[in-house]
Amino acid sequence: MNINNLIEKLLARLARIRTLKYATNALRKVLQAEGIEYVPFGVGNKKTKLPGFYRKVGNTCPPDCPYLGKGCYSEGGPACLQQVRAVDDPDATVASFIVCTILANKYCGDWPSRMFVSGDVCRFGKVDRELVNKLKVAAVALRKHLGMDVVGYGYTHTHDPALLAELEEVGIVILQSDEIGAGCAIVHPHGDIGSLPKADGFRYIKCPSQTTDHVKCANCPICKDARRKGSCVVFDPHGPGKKNLELQYT
Ligand code: SF4
Repeated sequence: MNINNLIEKLLARLARIRTLKYATNALRKVLQAEGIEYVPFGVGNKKTKLPGFYRKVGNTCPPDCPYLGKGCYSEGGPACLQQVRAVDDPDATVASFIVCTILANKYCGDWPSRMFVSGDVCRFGKVDRELVNKLKVAAVALRKHLGMDVVGYGYTHTHDPALLAELEEVGIVILQSDEIGAGCAIVHPHGDIGSLPKADGFRYIKCPSQTTDHVKCANCPICKDARRKGSCVVFDPHGPGKKNLELQYT
């Protein structure tokens, strides 16, 4: 896949398309016409309203993720319908990352895309270096074509600080799930936030889309700025498996 050519073709296709829904379908057709495989992607749900892509849960997750089989929100409900269809191919993930980032940039006010709505960066239980390297190449090209600083953001259950720093250098901001600290994200009841451990260097921020109707990921900078601003994002338990969640900080 020639990434620069693909970005140019995708951008050219959007010239006269005004709405995100039509643009999403049009870019899907471009990939199909080019014979490029992709993982499922969409325009986001009620909470995010932001283009994002799905990877297969299990195959791409670290085996020690505490939610795997125990309340992961992508193992049931609408996200599950998408993730089970994802092929296990780094190039397919990169293709969807490129499309989502172009859509978010053009139709969501210059915003980065939501990466890894489901799944993670692993293969066979370890970080998939081929995928990481290809995502980095795509991120550099997207930055150049779109003139953006942060091109995508998401969350990982893989504990590898060096990897997160490496990705941030090319404009991919990945928050560390299930750790407390700057640039991290945890699931914890919003009503019990006062009981969480405190330390200098970070502050807890409740995800506002869970507390107010008008905030969506497409207009909220908290996650994309969390590493830079030292925020630890707190999600109230959510998703179809929330009753089975084994909370980490109780
Ligand atoms: S904190 Fe903001 S960006 Fe992060 S998940 Fe919530 S609404 Fe989305």
